[in-house]
Amino acid sequence: MRCPYCTSIDNKVVDSRLGKEGESIRRRRECLKCEGRFTTYERVEEVLPSVIKKDGRREAFDRMKILHGLTKACEKRPISMEMLERTVEGIEKSLQEKGLKEIPSTVVGEEVMDRLHKLDEVAYVRFASVYRSFRDINEFMSELKDILSNKELKAVKEAAVDKPQKQEEKNQKPEKLVLPLDS
Ligand SMILES: [Zn+2]
Repeated sequence: MRCPYCTSIDNKVVDSRLGKEGESIRRRRECLKCEGRFTTYERVEEVLPSVIKKDGRREAFDRMKILHGLTKACEKRPISMEMLERTVEGIEKSLQEKGLKEIPSTVVGEEVMDRLHKLDEVAYVRFASVYRSFRDINEFMSELKDILSNKELKAVKEAAVDKPQKQEEKNQKPEKLVLPLDS
């Protein structure tokens, strides 16, 4: 911390108090060289556990990385940026509440998946397909199957009255649903 008058880095703290919301510390400092007084504000970093990657390396929890992933998953979905921000905050909070210094990346991944599942199912499936390395592939596939079979069930119920045969056809050739080029 350099003195704003003489740029010396030697100073002492003469007063220290917590900011209004408790998220910053205000320190009154006195330069040891010129005796000038100045104030510094230090943000209290919310302590997040570091993330243990699959290969054992540790890295800092990266909120932007998660927000970016969520944004990508929710592209063209009716999800506002604010909802995404809140989702990331929720993830951070529940990771903090675990009270651990280190946390496996799979736990972070699952937390993200859970939140996204509640937020938007389509986005969830998209995210899962990108970030499936976070979790066990079999687990991912059974999760995906559940979602798809739920949707199919719903679709079958809806279509049961008029066109049950068409539904069967759809189930066999899902690619025709995705690319309506031959219509
Ligand atoms: Zn000074």
